[in-house]
Amino acid sequence: MTIILDGKKTSEKILNKVNERLNESKKSKLYLPPHLAVILVGDNPASKIYVNNKKKAAEKVGIKSTIIEFEVNVTEQELLSKIVELNNNDEVTGILVQLPLPEHIDKNKVILSISPKKDVDGFHPENGGKLLLGVEPYFYPATPQGIIMLMDEYNIPIEGKHAVVIGRSNIVGKPMAQMLLRRNATVTMCHSYTHQDDLVEIIKTADILVSAVGKKIVRCKMVKKNSCVIDVGISRDANGKLTGDVDFDIVAPSCGFITPVPGGVGPMTIASLMYNASKVY
Ligand code: NAP
Repeated sequence: MTIILDGKKTSEKILNKVNERLNESKKSKLYLPPHLAVILVGDNPASKIYVNNKKKAAEKVGIKSTIIEFEVNVTEQELLSKIVELNNNDEVTGILVQLPLPEHIDKNKVILSISPKKDVDGFHPENGGKLLLGVEPYFYPATPQGIIMLMDEYNIPIEGKHAVVIGRSNIVGKPMAQMLLRRNATVTMCHSYTHQDDLVEIIKTADILVSAVGKKIVRCKMVKKNSCVIDVGISRDANGKLTGDVDFDIVAPSCGFITPVPGGVGPMTIASLMYNASKVY
């Protein structure tokens, strides 16, 4: 029988643990309360929703959060100056810049300007580089970390397994592959240049399949028996309904474990981010 990985329930468990840990730390005289600064540029409705959800989650676990809003025409220099100010503010322990940014702002410059010790998204090259070197970073990127937390919750073995990651973005695919490698999986990465026929053959051999593309790509019944299928993708179907990369109804009966969309990776990303935001360096 296929087990549906309940990201909602697991995320609540993690958020409760974060809350308990914070309450415990408050007893220490050295306690420095975590304070997350979230920068939002422009009025992209989706970004506003994401930022408000992060604020709500932070409040729920007892993390102070401040949303700093800029008009869409803010200059790169103004944004960078604010980040420097937040880096130097000892009361701010985490900084997050909501992506995407307007085209006139260099995203990489912004990411680079955040102190690696406050980089709760784990996107700074120092954190990414450490992950690559097998050295503990200050923060792991939230989505792949949340996926590993979910797999661990269900005791899904990773070591020695063949993990296939579809998608190679800096925020999901690449760090996901590195984190699976760190847990001693044999990792194959696929992307838009992977030949379609090869993709199907590779999927067939995956003990762990992580799809992070943003379009319906895993349609076949070809997933390996008892494999674990993690659907990161978020898109809308023809009826406007939220959907993932995986054709759930066709794939679910053939595998061992699967995440639903919604209710799988999404809530785990938020919980994982709050886990990061609760850390103070
Ligand atoms: P992205 O930056 O757009 O990357 C998509 C990746 O998919 C790229 O590496 C691209 O390859 C690859 N790709 C595109 N078409 C493909 C094909 N036909 N076959 C194989 N690979 C293909 O996206 P992202 O930021 O990683 O996000 C991926 C999806 O996950 C999106 O739907 C996003 O909304 C969702 N997401 C969800 C969460 C969550 O919490 N649930 C978090 C983050 C992202 P190339 O590199 O060759 O272009």
